[in-house]
Amino acid sequence: MFEQVLKGGQVFWGDTLIQADLAIEGSKIAAVGSNLKGKSELDATGRWILPGAVDVHTHFSLPFAGAISADDFYSGSVAAACGGVTTFIDFTAQAGDEGVLDSLKRRREQADPLVAVDYSLHACIGNYSAKVAEQLPLLASHGVTSLKIFMAYGKSGLMQNDKGLLNIMTACRQHGILVTVHAENGCLIDLLTDQAAEANNLGIESLPLTRPVFSETEAIRRIADFSRYTGCKVYVVHVSSGEGAQILGCERQRGAHIAGETCPQYLYLDEKSLSGPTGHFYGCCPPIRSKNQQKLLWQRLAANDLAVVATDHCPFTTSDKNSWQNKITSLPMGLPGIETLPLLVLNGVHSEKISLQQAVKAISENPARIFGLYPQKGSLMPGTDADIMVYNPDCNHEISVAALHMRTDYSPYEGLQCRGCNEMTILRGKVVYSRQNGWQGEKGGGRFVERHATDAEFFIKKGLPA
Ligand SMILES: [Zn+2]
Repeated sequence: MFEQVLKGGQVFWGDTLIQADLAIEGSKIAAVGSNLKGKSELDATGRWILPGAVDVHTHFSLPFAGAISADDFYSGSVAAACGGVTTFIDFTAQAGDEGVLDSLKRRREQADPLVAVDYSLHACIGNYSAKVAEQLPLLASHGVTSLKIFMAYGKSGLMQNDKGLLNIMTACRQHGILVTVHAENGCLIDLLTDQAAEANNLGIESLPLTRPVFSETEAIRRIADFSRYTGCKVYVVHVSSGEGAQILGCERQRGAHIAGETCPQYLYLDEKSLSGPTGHFYGCCPPIRSKNQQKLLWQRLAANDLAVVATDHCPFTTSDKNSWQNKITSLPMGLPGIETLPLLVLNGVHSEKISLQQAVKAISENPARIFGLYPQKGSLMPGTDADIMVYNPDCNHEISVAALHMRTDYSPYEGLQCRGCNEMTILRGKVVYSRQNGWQGEKGGGRFVERHATDAEFFIKKGLPA
């Protein structure tokens, strides 16, 4: 007799759905099989039992253009749980030239009391200082195995030049750290933005013109070359264009140690949203692209050029966005996303753009493996954390901000018809959300998860691992 059993659902197992019961003991998955008995049993007939989603790209309480992203670690993790996300990875922020362990300590002090689902952090730097170089070899022993760097944002002091890329990637390779990179050509973007400013043309429609697809594809090719030369494993965040994804796939074939993610906004929105009086609500970097790029992006996701869909969750309220004075250079950039991640990716299965296996892996197993959390997270294997999403594939509903928990007053997907919904989220064996009773978790109930090294299989020159 097990403590809890989810009865009669379809469990994601061996890359497919099988008819099975799933048993939980304490905080762990105990068994997957038939006729399992539990002290407490939940009827999951017709439901998909999926591993809780792992969103590896969030920005809680992030200062940007005079505003601060609206979700803090508590409200953001409540929204995560309501959507079926049980683990997220946010970022540290470097103050001045401080070392990676110092920024990690500060960010953990901010997050630990608030988080309500499990989490980790990427160490994030702009300045590859002597202190960073000194502390980098110790980073993995603090449970952090990824470093975020930027190829753009020169004006905010975040951008790495070629010398920085070479030094950082050589050191990261040596110390088993995965480099996650914002791949946009910052010099090009700064020039085009300055030109747009001179022409008095900083409206939201100019965002894709100042950050053309070329600025992304060029940076992906360049970082791939650095990866080949240094042997450092690289993860490209928020690939916004189908072309960018395609190039990433080609570079993998050519031996670059590279993997990548896209985000729901690039799969569902296109630049038409940027016109009209609310166009600036859709401002994010890289910008949303043309319908053609969007279509190609789904195709490249289906072709396994990208391993992950994550959100770049960075919500602002309409009043934050309205402070922009009609200038993209003063606009808080970013969109809400964590709560709708599983919904939108699984909706791609119903609309036959990607397979069920691809969707589930893109939001749980693959990010968990790439960021050293697997199988504790991102799997339903007995002995691992019972982080579970109970998903109803048959309900139809329309996305509306009124029903969402993210701390903003609009949704970029308002009115979008979706199939499927999350009915229950279980975090380490405890129900933290149900559609019937809403949020049931607690502030501080989440934990910092120590990560191990990345799964090397994602960085060899062939398709994604089976
Ligand atoms: Zn981001």
